[in-house]
Amino acid sequence: MNMSDKCKTHVDSCRFCWMCHHICPIGNATGHERSTPRARALGISLVNRGAIGLEEIMDNIYECAGCGACVHDCVTGWDPVMFTKEVRLQAALEDKLPAYINAMVDHCLDEGNAYGKTVLCETLSAKIAEHKEKTDTLLYLGADARYMACKQAVKAIRVLEKAGLAFTVLADELPSGAQLDFLIGAADETKQQMLANAKVMDGFKTVIVYDPTDAKVMKRTYKEYGVETTAAVQTYTAALAALVKDGKLVGKKADKTVVYQDPYQLARDLEETEEARAVIAEFATLHELHLNRGETVWAGNILMAQYMPEVMKKVAARRLSNVKSIGECAVVTACVSEYTALKSVEQSEIEVLSLEDLILGE
Ligand code: SF4
Ligand code: SF4
Repeated sequence: MNMSDKCKTHVDSCRFCWMCHHICPIGNATGHERSTPRARALGISLVNRGAIGLEEIMDNIYECAGCGACVHDCVTGWDPVMFTKEVRLQAALEDKLPAYINAMVDHCLDEGNAYGKTVLCETLSAKIAEHKEKTDTLLYLGADARYMACKQAVKAIRVLEKAGLAFTVLADELPSGAQLDFLIGAADETKQQMLANAKVMDGFKTVIVYDPTDAKVMKRTYKEYGVETTAAVQTYTAALAALVKDGKLVGKKADKTVVYQDPYQLARDLEETEEARAVIAEFATLHELHLNRGETVWAGNILMAQYMPEVMKKVAARRLSNVKSIGECAVVTACVSEYTALKSVEQSEIEVLSLEDLILGE
């Protein structure tokens, strides 16, 4: 397999040890040794040595969520996310992607989202139409919210309305490139999507990004891939925290105690942990999960539920059990995808809320 020297070094230097074994949310959900980062490195190493074919490890390569818990915990500084992404790119170039991944890549290229959706729900379309006028500020909703969680997208808009902010929402929002980046890494097609979206963003002074996955890509990956934008990119959580601080988003503190589920994209990739907490503290009493901020445990997402739904439910159920284990009964998320994953678990003991649910009291 054609792999950069940097990635080969990381694969060969990974000691296949136990240090990050216990913190992988996928490995913990499946209980399979093969799902752990060390097993993935071992598999790639075997392909690099010609012992097995690339196609033999591809399902395993797509079991990784890219949550970065292993990178965070690797005391020797090796990066399983980096080498996993590079293998995805190489598999795409060698036409060795699994069929279920190929289908999602095709949807990203043809319809602009991995789900192949083309129509928004009526309520969201109507709400977006209320914000079609050009302003200095763009609210970027992202594919998951627009096509898979439209009620949350509507609420995200309503929260900014409640704060009296003037903002635009695009009916024909372009893909950020985040889904393609997950599926095939730094391919030309990924960069083309990012460049096209950055050009649209240039038309605004500020872009508030609702989904942390898109925010991470726009604030970090665009720079890594040489994609520039003149717009100031702000996470939705940072925007809400600023509105709270300025007295524009004022709450009646509910008689409710919650814990906060840090999205890894904010906590680890963007090192943003306090903004959502400042917002929550305005509307509820905040307690902490044992594994919080940079130590957060990912709670699942919508995209991977398309091809491993049962594992995603187990990932989410495990995170809910973390909430229950400390005697808490409500968790607030700031990621629409994690919110959807947590909501998909059939249970009644833990209340799952988005930041918008908390702010709007719904
Ligand atoms: S990434 Fe680091 S902690 Fe994880 S198995 Fe490799 S060397 Fe060990
Ligand atoms: S990035 Fe997350 S899902 Fe992937 S191997 Fe590391 S801990 Fe597991």
